[in-house]
Amino acid sequence: MVLPLIVQKYGGSSVADAEKIMSVARRIGRGRDSGVDIVAVVSAMGDTTDALIDLARSISPTPDPRELDLLLSTGELVACTLLTMALRTLGYSALSLSGTQAGIRTDTTYGRARIHSIDTGRVQMELAKGQLIVVAGFQGATEDLDITTLGRGGSDTTAVALAAALGADRCEIYTDVDGIYSADPRIVPRARKLDEIGYDEMLELASYGAKMHPRSIELGSFYQVPIYVASSFGDAPGTLIHKKPDENPSDEDPMEDRIRVTGIACNTNVAKITVRSLPDRPGIAAALFEPLAKVGMSIDTIVQNTSVERSTDISFTVSRTDLDEAVRQVEGVLDSIGATGVVSDATLASVSVIGSGMQNTPGYASRMFRILADGNVNIDMITTSEIRISCVVKEEQAQEAVRLLHHGFQLDQDP
Ligand code: ASP
Ligand code: MG
Repeated sequence: MVLPLIVQKYGGSSVADAEKIMSVARRIGRGRDSGVDIVAVVSAMGDTTDALIDLARSISPTPDPRELDLLLSTGELVACTLLTMALRTLGYSALSLSGTQAGIRTDTTYGRARIHSIDTGRVQMELAKGQLIVVAGFQGATEDLDITTLGRGGSDTTAVALAAALGADRCEIYTDVDGIYSADPRIVPRARKLDEIGYDEMLELASYGAKMHPRSIELGSFYQVPIYVASSFGDAPGTLIHKKPDENPSDEDPMEDRIRVTGIACNTNVAKITVRSLPDRPGIAAALFEPLAKVGMSIDTIVQNTSVERSTDISFTVSRTDLDEAVRQVEGVLDSIGATGVVSDATLASVSVIGSGMQNTPGYASRMFRILADGNVNIDMITTSEIRISCVVKEEQAQEAVRLLHHGFQLDQDP
């Protein structure tokens, strides 16, 4: 008989000490007893990864990337072997596998390797023997069997990738928060836990709460793996990330009811750069942004003004942590592109209204601007996607803006 297969991922805080590891083992055991096959994926215990990075830096300020990855992979190995021992003491037959043993092959980009393929042969063979499998998250190996890591928080990606490769029925992510909320509950006390959320909306909202590795959501979306996020510390229902049925509100609905927003996001890691008086001719934007792309910098909002007397300003945002480097890169091309100067502002934040229900429905943007205007929040820049409208505002007004929007879009109320 083929049992349903579930991949369960346990984050570092869920396996932070021996007692917590035992309680995770009991949870896996309960799942097993209910008649499912389980592949568990674990992160390193508590802050192990940070501690290992600090240790490496105390020996070399710029540790060799290959050595660092091999070192960091040990954190997950510790957690996965201990969890397997815990399962065995509870009487289950269980086996631990490193990422490499679980067949995870990656490219050679140490520190943020991408998964190329998963050979599930070994895992499937062990499952067929009736074993519970515990896989070390966050790691894989290159063709040459050098160990790589997938980037901070990468165990989520291990779990969803394994679920996709194994054709699992779903992937469950157990963490220290009990799901995805309509806004950060620390900012909006009345934020509601969502029962479900679409993959695209989750990607947009992933900036707070149950922080998930964005690549895991992309994988889930591409391979249609339902992802259930819940707390490992209790049995409160969590949030299901899946393909939500299209919610195109019908024309019959009263206009106000058509406004359906899923959540409000806030990002305070925003800085703005403005390049002044660029000549308005082909090639200037390319010459400005190419050096930034070359150093791997991701740019968010970009605004170019209509030109007045054949010269324009371009403003764009980067994460605050990238600001100095971005300004350096821009200064490097200022003369060659004929701009007159560059200024920056690191006191900004972005607030976003997110919801797949907004697609093809007018009224969201103007309503957002009205709510902010009535709250005396000045808008600096605006960008939109199909399911998101973002405004850059002063950081000191960001939290208030989130509360106003949460209330204004009626997210305080039960749907
Ligand atoms: N232990 C790794 C980290 O802390 C991977 C993970 O937690 O998913 O980034
Ligand atoms: Mg961790």
